Amino acid sequence: MTASTQPGSERFPTLLSPLVVGPVTIRNRIVSTGHATRLADGQQAGPRLRAYHRARAAGGVGLIVTEASFITTEGSYSGAQLVNTDDSIIPSLTALAEEVHAEGATIFGQLLHLGLEQSHRLDGTRVAAPGPSAGDSERYHTSGRAMTVAEIAGVVEAFAAAAGRIRTAGLDGVEIGASHGYLLAQFLSPEINRRTDAYGGSFEGRLRFLVEVLTAVRDRIGADLALGIRISGDEHTTDGLDGDAVVEICAAVAALAYDGRPLLDYVNVPIGSSRQIAGAVHIVSPMSTDLAISVPIAERISAAISQPVLAVGRINHPALAEEVLASGAAGLVGMTRALIVDPEMPAKTARGEVAEVRQCIACNQACIDRFHRGHGISCIQHPETGRETGLGIRRPAEAPKRVLVVGGGPAGMKAACVAAERGHTVTLVERDTTLGGQVRLAERLPRRSELGGIVPNFERELVRAGVEVRLGETVDRDLVERCGPDVVIVATGATVRAPVGELADAHVVDAWQVLRGEAEVGRRVLVADARCDAIGIGIAEHLAGERHRVTLASTGHVAGETLPRYVRDLALGELHRLEVTQIPLVRLFGADDDTVYLQHMASGLPVIVTDIDTVVVCQGHTAVDGLVAELGGDTDGGLVIDGRRVEVHVIGDARAPRTVEEATLEALEVASAI
Ligand code: SF4
Repeated sequence: MTASTQPGSERFPTLLSPLVVGPVTIRNRIVSTGHATRLADGQQAGPRLRAYHRARAAGGVGLIVTEASFITTEGSYSGAQLVNTDDSIIPSLTALAEEVHAEGATIFGQLLHLGLEQSHRLDGTRVAAPGPSAGDSERYHTSGRAMTVAEIAGVVEAFAAAAGRIRTAGLDGVEIGASHGYLLAQFLSPEINRRTDAYGGSFEGRLRFLVEVLTAVRDRIGADLALGIRISGDEHTTDGLDGDAVVEICAAVAALAYDGRPLLDYVNVPIGSSRQIAGAVHIVSPMSTDLAISVPIAERISAAISQPVLAVGRINHPALAEEVLASGAAGLVGMTRALIVDPEMPAKTARGEVAEVRQCIACNQACIDRFHRGHGISCIQHPETGRETGLGIRRPAEAPKRVLVVGGGPAGMKAACVAAERGHTVTLVERDTTLGGQVRLAERLPRRSELGGIVPNFERELVRAGVEVRLGETVDRDLVERCGPDVVIVATGATVRAPVGELADAHVVDAWQVLRGEAEVGRRVLVADARCDAIGIGIAEHLAGERHRVTLASTGHVAGETLPRYVRDLALGELHRLEVTQIPLVRLFGADDDTVYLQHMASGLPVIVTDIDTVVVCQGHTAVDGLVAELGGDTDGGLVIDGRRVEVHVIGDARAPRTVEEATLEALEVASAI
């Protein structure tokens, strides 16, 4: 028996074992931690949010912690978040608890107040944000005010009342959000909390608000619901809590008793803080950060308290999770993105099918970045996530067809998998000798090495779905006639767009030539980035790391403007460290011997950069969309083969160059409809 075919319980004995958390027994150690989804409807747990969590419960997760529910209307900024301020939320929470319980999982409700870390109210106006002391939010550029003692009492009661509703709704526990530099964490920090009354000054004073909240919540939920806190193990800010402070706080709170037993049942330990960029990037750590990032501090907290500790942060595979648990560093593991990309991960692990697990690559693109862009979360590899009530339902094909997919990038691979899973007979033909398309190049960029993880994930799914994959073949009319498809899905991708401008007298190369090692690049380089995606910022970092003197000229307000913000901010920090000069809001106009001519996009004035040896152009891509015409199709994209009209769909970059997110979503849409 090989490791990959061992029953899960033998290979993952700790991960798959139950755990007692206070009065609650959780079936395994895998947790979907509280994370904002924007899947709520009308600030309630509507059908989309319930279906999202039900899918993870059905996939075998042990514990689901709901996203933060706001306990006052202050801080409420969207209809697609949970707000627990009155009894109207109880019916939807009840339905959520029943649906999760029906699948055998446990569910806790998380409660939060943002404090000073707020920008806008629901109506778009700026908040007079309350905090321990008057102060600013560096990230949101807002100013807040000090809370009165009466307000503090009101917030304590609001936490307790919200917890009571969670109890009424039938959830199994309550988690109090004291993490990421939000209100309760602000009170804990001596830099942010400058009060001189009973809620500041000493360690005990700063702790008072949290203890009052926990005690009031325990009063309301009784002894038969679990009670935990979420507290960042290290906020990574100049004004927040470091590891030593957090260990001391956790030890103090964990030692508190209530009715002869511990007040607190567990501690959830993420990393980072909303308050400053260096901390915020760890709220959802991108692929360039360490795996299992909170485990070292979780281990210290575990040593200081008797309650179970929940470690989180890029624990992206069952093997890593088992390692963390077996070491004793934590009793539970947060695997939130691992469950976003593969809701069935726990069940596959338990069945001994861990090789089938689709692995998260920490790109942040369709999960947290969709949230930041104001949309419900999803996944670039699994766009069914967040769409569980629609595209997430795999309906068997009414009439199985022969489907020919042309192109083996993300769009083609996803389309082939979905079509085959629905019962169609699918052949995927790729001109190259490997699958992956542009992903294979993009993974060579700095901070993008895990991007290539998409390919083996899809390769396994292609095998499991029974897709015939033919590599190294070019699709022509003869091949199509031999294949005899009913449907052709064109996923032929895109190619590098030729640069525009007067460049004949300059040394110009493109980004992909640099990445392939095909271009000689001079010491003084200007990277002309028209897309503000991962390529321009990545090429600049790559060349600066090789000791070129780099100027990055981009069409955005900031380089990497279209990237997920935590990905972008980490890269910007590195560009600064590498002394890359940045020029925002400029387009490439031309270049000659050693001078580059840019145009400022707002003023229209020229921006001239001298002493440049090489211009690296990152000007985007052009769709490779000529296949249907090459096959003899008509100008409307219609194709007739052997007298039969063939259904043709063009998806992904072949339709218009965009990102993997749109490629796989279009693949899912088309393959679900044929
Ligand atoms: S979008 Fe990327 S980071 Fe988010 S769950 Fe999917 S693979 Fe992971």
